[in-house]
Amino acid sequence: MAVVHYCIEAADLHAHLWRVKMTISHPATQQILSLPVWIPGSYMVREFSKHLQKLECRQSQRKLQVEQLDKASWAVASDGQSALEVSYEVYALDNSVRSAWLDSSRGFFNPTSLCLMAQGLTDEPHTLELRKHSSSKHWRVATGLPSIKTDKQGFGLYGAPNYDGLADYPIEMGEFWSGEFLACGVKHRLVVAGAMPSFDSARLLKDTQKICETHLQFWHQKGLNSSKNLASKTPFSSYVFLLNAVDDSYGGLEHRNSTALIAARKDLPRVGDAKTSEGYITLLGLISHEYFHTWNVKRLRPVEFTRYDYTQENYTHLLWFFEGFTSYYDDLLLRRSGLIDDVGYFKLLTKTMNQVFQTPGRLVQSVAQASMDAWVKYYRQDENTPNATVSYYTKGALVAACLDLSLRQSTPVTLDHIMRGLWVRCKAGPMQEEDLLEVLLEQTGRSWRKEIKAWVHTTKDLPIKELLVKQQLQVLEEPAQMAQRLGVRTVDSNGAVHIKVVLRGGAAEAAGLCAGDEWLGIEVGNLADGQAWRINKIEDLLHLLSDQRKMTAIVSRDKRFLRLALTLPPKTSTLRIHSANRKTNPGEAPWL
Ligand SMILES: [Zn+2]
Repeated sequence: MAVVHYCIEAADLHAHLWRVKMTISHPATQQILSLPVWIPGSYMVREFSKHLQKLECRQSQRKLQVEQLDKASWAVASDGQSALEVSYEVYALDNSVRSAWLDSSRGFFNPTSLCLMAQGLTDEPHTLELRKHSSSKHWRVATGLPSIKTDKQGFGLYGAPNYDGLADYPIEMGEFWSGEFLACGVKHRLVVAGAMPSFDSARLLKDTQKICETHLQFWHQKGLNSSKNLASKTPFSSYVFLLNAVDDSYGGLEHRNSTALIAARKDLPRVGDAKTSEGYITLLGLISHEYFHTWNVKRLRPVEFTRYDYTQENYTHLLWFFEGFTSYYDDLLLRRSGLIDDVGYFKLLTKTMNQVFQTPGRLVQSVAQASMDAWVKYYRQDENTPNATVSYYTKGALVAACLDLSLRQSTPVTLDHIMRGLWVRCKAGPMQEEDLLEVLLEQTGRSWRKEIKAWVHTTKDLPIKELLVKQQLQVLEEPAQMAQRLGVRTVDSNGAVHIKVVLRGGAAEAAGLCAGDEWLGIEVGNLADGQAWRINKIEDLLHLLSDQRKMTAIVSRDKRFLRLALTLPPKTSTLRIHSANRKTNPGEAPWL
């Protein structure tokens, strides 16, 4: 048993309670205990302590005084001699990858939700014992956490060199499907909980293997023909994908040798269905994204994340690099692994471009500012989010695309070389924006400061269209959907159109439509004609307006009816990348 030891078991499956018994072998006389308020990779204060209850501390059977210091920390007066026994329960019914879950079919947790930190001892070795629950005897355990002594099912003792090491390993339990493969000689395990009987596990396993091999070669062996054994070069000796399939959800969280994923069951491949659905591509993109993070944010990481502070927000200007460049490569490496074709890739890039160009907030915040504000903006979205901020995922991905295409069009190097150069320069550790600029200068012989400044630190639109055209692609402009033309985002329900977002500078804003309005109908032409119509969905306007552009919107706001004069703007457009006429010159660097 280490200096800090946790024993974790399901206390009550139906009450969704984990029981934790923590033992501190050499406590301080005033031992502070605290629970993280956030989990690295998800930049929001989530207050995990709200689910912690029945905290009790004992020393040699004697109950100790516990004083609560703030929302997530407690002080325990101990004799400073004998072992301190701490016990508590944690309520777990969050189906996301970020905290904890427990019911009769499955258990899952991140140590950041269940394991109190013993302040002053977080650099000491930590051990964790997982105990079997009497009514879940057939459950198995899946985790990247190094085991010390475990049974065949994975229950038993695990260890980490410090709290930080422990916190980075989510743990899955249940009767899940599990498969294994080697990618470039490195052992990988894929675990899927909640899948339907029709789940084509062999296909997902094979496709995940292709993704992993493409990534491993990208980081460690690009340019060499043999991809057999990279085990000595990879920063991890094994890797685990923990995928939870549910009715409808999407998300992932990266860790040093594992990832927790959640996806919709309908997006899993099905036996006998060889088609590649859009949902399945989204799932493969998620797998690719989180796996890329194993290098780009878990090892190469913002200098501010050298050591996480679990008690408060950890700020960085660099999420455009760590999330944006990862988003650029997640799809690009799907293309390189052969899981999607050029048309499929350009469809994904088109989507990203439209998301950025249709967000008015891109003219309000730079991606560097959006990174800093992630804690209160990206992760706390509301009706004003598209007007106030820009996604460092999507715009960051386009910054990567602009940089890659600019490099390819004017130098012998590509962004691939720059990424590997950063990996070497920063020794797979903390980096700053200056490191990127230095690697760019070293490898191309010229400064890229001006471009990075314009793309990352200003709100000027990115030159992505021009760069794609230079790559012999066409960027077509096609008529926008009705909602985009009007400058609204809506949801149709209960027979009416509900306004969720009114975009800055759009026709809907000019007319006075407001988020929260229920749009019931329109009047067109002269009211004496009785031309008032109910609408159920926004596309109804197409038929009702015909070639007219002026209407009166009838909306309900706070139980009152409003009549708002609204003019449909002349046709606006969305972008589409067209690759049919693309010619590849002999010897041209293969972008895709
Ligand atoms: Zn990410």
